[in-house]
Amino acid sequence: MTQTKAYAAQTAGAELAPFQFQRREPRPDDVAIEIDYCGVCHSDIHTVDNDWGRTVYPLVPGHEIVGRVTAVGSDVTRFRVGDVVGVGCMVDSCRACSACEAGLEQYCSEGMTGTYNGKDRYDGSITLGGYSERILVSERFVVSIPDRLDPATAAPILCAGITTYSPLRHFGVKAGDKVGVLGMGGLGHMGVKFAKALGAEVTLFTRSEAKVAEARKQGADHVVISTDREQMKAVRERFDFLLDTIPVAHDLNPYLATLKVDGTHILVGLLEPIEPAVHAGQLVAKRRVIAGSLIGGMPETQEVLDFCAEHGISCDIEMLDIRNINQAYERMKRGDVKYRFVIDMATLE
Ligand code: NDP
Ligand code: ZN
Ligand code: ZN
Repeated sequence: MTQTKAYAAQTAGAELAPFQFQRREPRPDDVAIEIDYCGVCHSDIHTVDNDWGRTVYPLVPGHEIVGRVTAVGSDVTRFRVGDVVGVGCMVDSCRACSACEAGLEQYCSEGMTGTYNGKDRYDGSITLGGYSERILVSERFVVSIPDRLDPATAAPILCAGITTYSPLRHFGVKAGDKVGVLGMGGLGHMGVKFAKALGAEVTLFTRSEAKVAEARKQGADHVVISTDREQMKAVRERFDFLLDTIPVAHDLNPYLATLKVDGTHILVGLLEPIEPAVHAGQLVAKRRVIAGSLIGGMPETQEVLDFCAEHGISCDIEMLDIRNINQAYERMKRGDVKYRFVIDMATLE
């Protein structure tokens, strides 16, 4: 057991505060990692606030982890001490179901084990995440950070990156397609970059006038202010795909109207019931599809890191002192982050 410093929430909606706990004993397939950087995902906020009703406290969030390997178990073959590695949203799965066999561990029929607030499959303890000094993760759920990537700006690829890359690839976005990205925070700004890198014509839908020029810098060809009815009307039946990263309930109907025949609205931001209701006529009349997507499997998580290295894609980050984590949450709730906070774990001292 190793004494480990961290930041934790003790109850729903409580501010995060310094916390210490014991990391478990290492197992033969474990990689021991000293954490250098951890991105701040909106899912961390949802979990701290118990928005999904499943949070166990104390909660140590954080699932965009980059660090250095300090030890490996006797069964580990792919990593050595000193390697720069990443850990995303999961640390285990059943490894035997058809989804796991296909490298889609996030869709494990028994449920994946989350990096935080998950239940360890061996000892039943609740997993504690990356807002901490160190972590132990089974080799299968560890990825290599390519040399060409900066470790700090690579951290958000482990969640924001893979979550936007995976559906764009799965649904077959290709050169010339018209893709709309809804919301420009951590996920949205990566969605814009990936859609662009795949050759699509990219439109950002945002509520924020202030993000218009920024979106163009990210590579968006067009920007639509989603609260402006005239602008929404002007893009009716324009898009092949919409990638929806909005983290709260919102009306899908005005967005569905912007899809062409056979267009697909991909939800990644919302895990709750859709409200207000979707008008089925919006789907039926144009053979439109509403779909969803959850992060990405381990092989694809390595693939997106390699894709970023190859295409020179990185996240735009604001480096964060962990003592300012609560202010960072407040800013994210207002949609005010350019475009991912990444905690410099050296500030945990
Ligand atoms: P951020 O807070 O970084 O960004 C969300 C963006 O959505 C904001 O910047 C804002 O963009 C827009 N937005 C916020 N509030 C509203 C609102 N009330 N109405 C319309 N738009 C709004 O969040 P993340 O990118 O980190 O996460 C987005 C969502 O994705 C979260 O719900 C998160 O839990 C989920 N998620 C899902 C995953 C999956 O596997 N499916 C994995 C990771 C995260 P703008 O100012 O441009 O309008
Ligand atoms: Zn996340
Ligand atoms: Zn499985």
